[in-house]
Amino acid sequence: MKFAVSLFLMLFIWCQAPLSVTTTATVAIETAASTDTQNLQQWHPSEDGIVALSGPWEFYWNRLLEPGDFAGGLPEQPLTVSVPAEWKSYAIDGQALSNEGYATYRMKFVISGETGGRPLGLYVPNIASAYRLWINGEHLDGNGTVGTDSASMIPRSHPKVYSFAPRPGDNELVIQVSNYAQRTGGIWEPIELGEAEKIASLHRNRVMIWAFLTGCLLVMTVFSVFLYLFRKQDRSALWFGVICLAICTRSSLLGESFVYVLFPGLSWEWGVKLEYLSEIATILSLAAFVNQQYPQEAMVRLFRFFATALAVFGLFVLITPARVYTHFMLPYVIVLLLPVFLYVMYVYIRAALRHRTGSRTNVIGFLGFFASVIHEMMYYTGLVPFGGLVSFGLLFFLLTQLLNLSLLFTRAITRSELLSVELNKVIESQEETIRQRTSDLQSLNLQLEQGNRELSRIENVRSALLAEVYHDLSTPITAIRGFSKAIHTAVIPQEEAPAYAGRIYERSLMLEKLIDNVLELSQLNTGETQFQFVEVPLLPLLRQWSHRYAAEASAQGVRLIWEEPDLPLPPGQEPLAVLDLFRFERVFANLISNAVKYTPDDGRIRVWTEFAPAADPDHGLVVVIHVADSGIGIPEEALPHIFKRRYRVPGIHQTKAGSGLGLAICKEIVARHQGEIGVKSIIGEGSDFYITLPAHACASKAGAEAYAEGGYDGDDDSAD
Ligand code: ADP
Repeated sequence: MKFAVSLFLMLFIWCQAPLSVTTTATVAIETAASTDTQNLQQWHPSEDGIVALSGPWEFYWNRLLEPGDFAGGLPEQPLTVSVPAEWKSYAIDGQALSNEGYATYRMKFVISGETGGRPLGLYVPNIASAYRLWINGEHLDGNGTVGTDSASMIPRSHPKVYSFAPRPGDNELVIQVSNYAQRTGGIWEPIELGEAEKIASLHRNRVMIWAFLTGCLLVMTVFSVFLYLFRKQDRSALWFGVICLAICTRSSLLGESFVYVLFPGLSWEWGVKLEYLSEIATILSLAAFVNQQYPQEAMVRLFRFFATALAVFGLFVLITPARVYTHFMLPYVIVLLLPVFLYVMYVYIRAALRHRTGSRTNVIGFLGFFASVIHEMMYYTGLVPFGGLVSFGLLFFLLTQLLNLSLLFTRAITRSELLSVELNKVIESQEETIRQRTSDLQSLNLQLEQGNRELSRIENVRSALLAEVYHDLSTPITAIRGFSKAIHTAVIPQEEAPAYAGRIYERSLMLEKLIDNVLELSQLNTGETQFQFVEVPLLPLLRQWSHRYAAEASAQGVRLIWEEPDLPLPPGQEPLAVLDLFRFERVFANLISNAVKYTPDDGRIRVWTEFAPAADPDHGLVVVIHVADSGIGIPEEALPHIFKRRYRVPGIHQTKAGSGLGLAICKEIVARHQGEIGVKSIIGEGSDFYITLPAHACASKAGAEAYAEGGYDGDDDSAD
C-alpha cells in the first residue's frame, strides 16, 4: 500500500512540474496582455522556464490567411482574443461563434536581443481539429489538412513540438485552424514557448510518463489474462485485464497521443472512436469487475441496465462520425459514467461495511480515481488550470487492485500451504492407521493361521489316536460279537452261557474304559479339556485318597500304606497346591491301579511325600508325591517309553489287561498342573512313580477350611 501511494505521488509530482511553470509564467504574461503584442522582453527562457502564449491574438473568423497577407498591413479588422479557448466562447457583434468553421490566428511577441540569439521551441497541443503554422513567415508543417468545409479538411489532432530561430524584437506566429470534425473547435489548450531544449524535454517527459503508464498497464493486462487463463473460474482477473487494456488504449490516444506516431495510418476519426469505445469498455468492465469481486453486494439488474445502455452508446459511437457523437459527451457523462462510478462506490462501501476482504483498500483506491475524474471535469469546466490526472487516478486504483489481487493470491497460497501441511498430517495419520490396521490384520491372519494349524494338529492327533486304538477297540468288539453269537446260536452248552455273558460284560467294561481313555487323551492332547483349579491342602487330600483306594488294593491282596511326612514347615502351617481335583484324582487312581496290577499278592504300595524349597523362592515349595510298589518292576530300557501313548512293556506285563494310555493321560494332566511325572524302577523289586508339583505353605486352619469346601473329610490320617 505504501509503495503504491509513494509511486503515485512521485508520478504526480513529475507530471505536475512543467505545468506549474506554465501557470506561473501565464500570470506574468497576462500583465502585458493589454497591448497588441505579447511582451516577452523580460522573459529569460533559461531562468523563467516555459511560458504560455496566451495572447492577445488577432483572430480572423472564416478566413484562411497566410503571413504574406499581412505584408501590407492588416487585411481587415481582427477580433482580439486570448488562447486557450473554444471558438464558441468568442463572439462577433454579440453573436457567439460556432465550434465548426475555420479561422486564422496571428500573434506577435517581443523578445529581448539576448533571447533572440538562441533557438526556441514551441509546444503545440491538440488543436481542433487541423492546423497550419508559420513562424516569422516560415511554414512549419502543422497537423491534418485545413479546409473550408468537412469535405476539404482532414482532421488530425495531437501535440507537436517545433523549434525555430527567433528574431530579437518582434516575432510573428500565424496559425490557420479549421474544424468540421468534433464538438470543440479552435486552440483550446495553451501553446507553450520555451528554450528548444526544454520544450523537447517537456515533450519527452510527457512521452516517458505515457510510456511508463502504458507499460504498467500492459504488464497488468498480460498478468491478469494469465491469471484468468490459469484459473478460469475467477473472472474478476479477466475483467481487470480488460480494464487495464482499455485504459492503456485510451491513454495512448490522449495526452501526447503517441499512438498516432506509432500508427501513422490511424485516422483521426477512428482514433477518437477508439478513445470513446475504450472509455466505455473501461467503465463497463469496471462494473463487471466489481460485481465479480463482491457478488453479494452487487446489484445485477442495475448492472444489466448499465451494460445495455453502454453497449447502445458504443454502437452509436461506432456508426456515427465524431462531430455527431462527441456532442453527446455531457449526457453520456451524466447518465452513464457518473452513475456507474456511484454504483461501484456503493458496492465498495457496502463491502467495506460488511468487512469483506480488501474492501477498504478498494474504497481508498476508487476514491483516488474518482477524485481524479472530478478534477478532470473541473478542468474541462475551467475550474482548475490543469487536467490529465485521470490516467494517474486509474493507475492508482489499478495499483490498489493489484495489491488486493496479490494479497488474495498470497493468502490463497499461504492457505494452500497450510492445507497441504494439514493434508500431509492427515495422510500420515491415515498411513499410521493403515499401518496399524495392516499389522492388526496380519496378526489376526497369524492367529487364524495358528488356529488353522492347531485345528489341523487336533485333527491329526485325533486321527492318529483313532488309528492307534482301532485295534484295541475292534478286539473286544470282535470278542463280544463272538461270545454273544455263540450264546445266541446255542453253539455252547447251556450251562456255560453265564460264563460267556460274564466275559461279554468284562469286555464291554474294558471297551468302555478304553473309549473313556481315548476321549480323555484326545481332549487333553487337543487342549479342549477345561481344568477347574482350586487351592487345596495337599496332605489331607492324599491321606483321604489313599484311604479310599486302600480297600480296592486290599481286595487284590495288596496293602496300601500312607506315610505321614515330616513337614519342613513351622508349626501351624501346611502345604497347599493348586489342583483340578477330579483330574488329579484320576492320576492318583491310575498310579494306584497300575501298582496293584503289577504287584503280586502280599505286595505293598507306599504313598509318601517329600518337600523341598522351590528353586524360585516366590514359588515357595516343591512337593514330590510318590506311589511306590513292591511289584514286578520295569526293565531299564522300557523306562524312557513308559509315558508314551500306547506303550506297554513287552513280556509279562502284557498278560495284564491294559491299553497303554493311562500313563500318557497322567503325564498330560500333571503337565497341566505345572508338574512332572517320572519313574524309578528295579526289576523284581518294584517301581516308584513320583509326581513333582509346585506348592506353598499356609496357615493350616485356612487350608483346612478351603479344602472343606471341596468336600474333605479330615479324620483320615492313615490308609492302613
Ligand atoms: P496299562 O493300561 O497297560 O497299564 P499304562 O499306561 O497305565 O497302561 O502303563 C503302561 C505300561 O507301563 C504298562 O503296560 C506296564 O507295562 C507299565 N507299568 C505301569 N505301571 C507299572 C507298575 N507299577 N509296575 C510295573 N509296570 C508298570
